[in-house]
Amino acid sequence: MLFLKSDVRITGMRPEILLAAVAAMRVYETAGHDFMITACVDGKHMTGSLHYAGAAIDVRTRDIAPADVQKLIAQIKTCLGGDFDVLLEVDHVHIEFQPKQALGV
Ligand SMILES: [Zn+2]
Repeated sequence: MLFLKSDVRITGMRPEILLAAVAAMRVYETAGHDFMITACVDGKHMTGSLHYAGAAIDVRTRDIAPADVQKLIAQIKTCLGGDFDVLLEVDHVHIEFQPKQALGV
């Protein structure tokens, strides 16, 4: 199931990161884990962070064994492909939409 932490703000969330959240949620669910978004456009992040552009989310990992978190990250990367970065931070998975090449028209 998908949960938003009570103070998460999603206004301005880009559709690309919403799609990433849907895909990542399915990966979590299939593995038997709840999917808790702990930050989107809110929170304090590095200067220039894609959170501020609505193109990143953080997802809770604290209830999941570290080895299982690595498996989840690998599966999410497979789902999303190269235009998304999926990174393990200290206490969460950070997912961001960052195209690596020009968009085709
Ligand atoms: Zn983040």
